[in-house]
Amino acid sequence: MSVTQIGLGPMGRAMVRSYLAKGHAVTVWNRTASRADDLVAEGAVRAGSVAEALAANEVVLLSLTDYQAMYDILSPEGEALRGKVVVNLSSDTPERTRVAAEWLAARGAELITGGVMVPEEMVGTEHSFVFYSGPKATFERIEPLLAVIGRPDYRGADPGLAQLYYQALLDLFLTTLSGFLHASALLGTAGVTAETLVPYAVENLTLVSSLLGESAGYVDSGKHPGDQANVLMMGATADHIHAASRDAGIDVTLPAVVKGLYDRAIAAGHGRDSWTSLVEIIRGKAN
Ligand code: NDP
Repeated sequence: MSVTQIGLGPMGRAMVRSYLAKGHAVTVWNRTASRADDLVAEGAVRAGSVAEALAANEVVLLSLTDYQAMYDILSPEGEALRGKVVVNLSSDTPERTRVAAEWLAARGAELITGGVMVPEEMVGTEHSFVFYSGPKATFERIEPLLAVIGRPDYRGADPGLAQLYYQALLDLFLTTLSGFLHASALLGTAGVTAETLVPYAVENLTLVSSLLGESAGYVDSGKHPGDQANVLMMGATADHIHAASRDAGIDVTLPAVVKGLYDRAIAAGHGRDSWTSLVEIIRGKAN
């Protein structure tokens, strides 16, 4: 099976190399043409224009900075999009993804949305996985081709879903990493290195992992039994972290946000409920 790859940033390049390594023919196009040079030397076929890249294959992978780049590249192409399956692996908001599906449908093309969940160096390895959404039959037809860059994980027909999963997991990822940095800075005020924190942080994250299953049940049911860690107890801890950070003279933005959620949950009457009731504040339902 052959494929066209448009966009040769670090991710697009890694994808092309995965296809070449598995013996697939790949046609490539990039705004900055020189970025294709080494890939062409490795076996990729250079398209001289976007139209040529589209004409080469039914399946066209896009790996671009955002969805605006897709419009910049594909808008002038008109009829050349008819019958194509555009797999957009660029990140953007779910809403822009849905609009893009309509935009492509109006031009006779289908959109499969992808959210790549690994960094470039892991693309094409056994650890790589990608969320997809869009028309199911089309996804299933091209799934073997998509599997080359990582395990395809189809989430549903709504084109925004893959982006939503991508954003949700990165939400978790970025917030957790920021927490690690804040904790490092806090300990650092006493001259303790981040390296010293690591084994404790790993143990802490293992504990966090073990809490997720039961917590998800509370989140999904909207019932938050407070017989264990309730909002008042956890909120007092949030207060202490905020005060300790302030006293230590470091930035309090992150603990202030967490403390703010607990304060609002208490004000909304959730004090004796489980800490999971914060989700009602986050959902904007309480107050
Ligand atoms: P880059 O931002 O480096 O990719 C840029 C690519 O988009 C280049 O090919 C660039 O062309 C092209 N591009 C940008 N704007 C335009 C435009 N207006 N017109 C034409 N081409 C344009 O990103 P990455 O390769 O790192 O990532 C690609 C996507 O994958 C992003 O959406 C990113 O969020 C996502 N992602 C990245 C991960 C990573 O670890 N890097 C991990 C998971 C997802 P040119 O070379 O000419 O500038």
